[in-house]
Amino acid sequence: MTLEIKRLHLASLQGPDGGTWPVHGFVVTHPGGAVLVDTGVGGPQDVLDDWRVVNRSVADALAELDMSPADIGLVINTHLHFDHCGQNAVFKHAPFYVQRAELSRMRRESSELYEWFGFMDARFELLDGDTEVLPGLDVITTPGHTEGHQCVVVRTGKGGGEVGGGSFDLLIGDAAYTPRQYAEPGRDNLPPGQASDVETWRESIRKIRSLRPEHVHFCHHTAIVHS
Ligand SMILES: [Zn+2]
Repeated sequence: MTLEIKRLHLASLQGPDGGTWPVHGFVVTHPGGAVLVDTGVGGPQDVLDDWRVVNRSVADALAELDMSPADIGLVINTHLHFDHCGQNAVFKHAPFYVQRAELSRMRRESSELYEWFGFMDARFELLDGDTEVLPGLDVITTPGHTEGHQCVVVRTGKGGGEVGGGSFDLLIGDAAYTPRQYAEPGRDNLPPGQASDVETWRESIRKIRSLRPEHVHFCHHTAIVHS
């Protein structure tokens, strides 16, 4: 089965280096209904002001693909920062696939945001580790940016049964902000916020690289890395 990835431009904000960074979400087309990976920016106005967010509604971004929120059958959040789960509420009809460790981290570290998002009402599918979400679509745990961060593996080519066995693309989330962190995880001066736990983060990048994804798609960078 061949799946297709379509990138959404959901916002721009001031990145940790002072430059303007994009915020991407991704639609993965699937015969059983489309999957959305990350929902863009939302949160209290002071948070948006701090990051100088120029925001878009995810519904407008989907409209450019001739889609509406109702077409999304399932949402995956790579992690629960305000620029990745900010518009989850638009998809109340869909389950949110999140690592259990990530939801408890958010509850613990960002109780204010947790309450703002009203997550108690959401239908979570809590995951414990690497999981096949749908045929050809998997999540793999990549802790380090946050404790429960996950990346999404999308089989885009033919052949191969296991992850790494056929050709696949990787939606890296914030496991790497830019191609540089992906290419050189050993570098010292990481952008602020890249890793909450540097050693764990480095291990996750090594894990991803050893899988040899054909393409890597970033949330905060427009380049697509080919390997
Ligand atoms: Zn982010």
